Amino acid sequence: MHEFTVNTTKKCQLIDITRTLNKIITQDEVNSGIMLVYVPHTTAGVTINENGDPDVKRDVLLQLDEISPDNPKFQHFEGNSDAHVKSSLVGCSEQVIIENGKLKLGTWQSVYFAEFDGPRHRKVWVKIIKD
Ligand code: ZN
Repeated sequence: MHEFTVNTTKKCQLIDITRTLNKIITQDEVNSGIMLVYVPHTTAGVTINENGDPDVKRDVLLQLDEISPDNPKFQHFEGNSDAHVKSSLVGCSEQVIIENGKLKLGTWQSVYFAEFDGPRHRKVWVKIIKD
């Protein structure tokens, strides 16, 4: 199992972690298999989306905020239920095929750490199943 840290700088942020994930594959000398990327937090997540136009990241975060804005009816004492809802919508894990020693992603795809209650120091857990 691998663990690395992501230091977020904003309340809501998508951070491309694809390069870090590919480094782990190189370091482990894996040619083929499956990578599980897991975020052990309840106000963050992981998602795969477009890396071409940076406005996509902005629009995704904007829309998640429209779906789950802060709500005066929320009762959770921490006051961050909007972030908990966004975390559940995005999910806390992704599985990606490893082929030829790197993640097999679509041309415009990257793996993003999704922060919804930053800035914070976050962890990502990675498990590789070799075949
Ligand atoms: Zn909370």
